[in-house]
Amino acid sequence: MAKYQKNEADLAALKAVLGENLKEDEPIARHTSWRIGGPADYFLRATDEAELVVLLKTCRSRNIPFLIIGNGSNMLVADKGWRGMVVENRLDAFTVNDLGDGRCLLKAGSGALLGALSRRIAKLGWSGFEFAATIPGSVGGGIVSNAGAHGGDFSKVLRRVAVANANGELDILPAEKLELSYRDSRWREQVGNNKVPLGNLGNELILWAEFELQQGDPAAIKQHIDEMTDWRRKNQPQEPSGGSVFKNPPAPFGSAGSLIEKAGLKGHVIGGAQISPRHANFIINLGEAKAQDVIDLINLARKTVKEQFGADIEPEVEMLGEFD
Ligand SMILES: Cc1cc2nc3c(=O)[nH]c(=O)nc-3n(C[C@H](O)[C@H](O)[C@H](O)COP(=O)(O)OP(=O)(O)OC[C@H]3O[C@@H](n4cnc5c(N)ncnc54)[C@H](O)[C@@H]3O)c2cc1C
Repeated sequence: MAKYQKNEADLAALKAVLGENLKEDEPIARHTSWRIGGPADYFLRATDEAELVVLLKTCRSRNIPFLIIGNGSNMLVADKGWRGMVVENRLDAFTVNDLGDGRCLLKAGSGALLGALSRRIAKLGWSGFEFAATIPGSVGGGIVSNAGAHGGDFSKVLRRVAVANANGELDILPAEKLELSYRDSRWREQVGNNKVPLGNLGNELILWAEFELQQGDPAAIKQHIDEMTDWRRKNQPQEPSGGSVFKNPPAPFGSAGSLIEKAGLKGHVIGGAQISPRHANFIINLGEAKAQDVIDLINLARKTVKEQFGADIEPEVEMLGEFD
């Protein structure tokens, strides 16, 4: 498929839908946790579900490649950026339906940020979502990778999601249909513009999600969240990063971080990026890192670990946009 090129006709069509909310040539680095990523041809910070669905249909009908970003904490975006439309999702409203039997159903917009949502739910005395408090992502991004921490993950509490497909048709999917497993879901099959020329338009867009939670003691839940937050601060790098870069390989190899450390790569620098001296499965941005610096470190780590230990370590983060 030919590379997409920004053009006046598409710009006019997008302006007709989005008006002044449409931005051009927005640096994606402003919207990723790595602080890396070149410009998006067209950009929207979405706060309105109806507007987002109309935008999806417009992009589909005009073959404009579409990328949705939650909190940009699980993606490496190319230095050349994204040709087409990028949406930062801030559909973050939530409601709690008390079932009256010690359980509730939490319905949250897919753009809700996990830390803030988790703390607000904790204050209301609902337990089960604490695991997400220290994951710097959104509800939508969390479902895509079945994010998890401290023994919890999305598959344990998610009941159903509402999605819009590329034609703008809405559907409700029960959690059993989402193929949630270790850092994986039905969305991960196709992500990345290498496999899907129209970006995320090959997949459904998650609009909201419903979780089943249990009644708990607000003070105890808060204490648990505070302890997990402290643990992160002490054990993980605080510089801009994409979190764990590699999935852990299957037994008997041990964690990806320990393999990279044993291979002697902890602290290794390429350009403006470094394998964190604190945690070898993190690559940090020292200030001016390029996506290519990170790619070079990823390739070096994979090659060295394979040569020294025979283990294949697969990236957990997604590479998106216009790489050479
Ligand atoms: C410091 C740090 C610590 C981390 N710790 C953890 C951890 O403990 N556990 C863990 O699992 N992960 C962790 N991560 C990784 C990351 O935070 C999670 O994967 C998170 O759930 C990603 O959410 P996001 O909104 O940032 O996704 P994004 O990076 O914005 O998006 C990821 C993918 O999901 C797609 N997507 C996003 N929203 C939608 C939607 N509404 N509909 C359809 N597709 C969508 C995007 O297009 C992209 O393909 C960490 C990351 C960092 C930077």
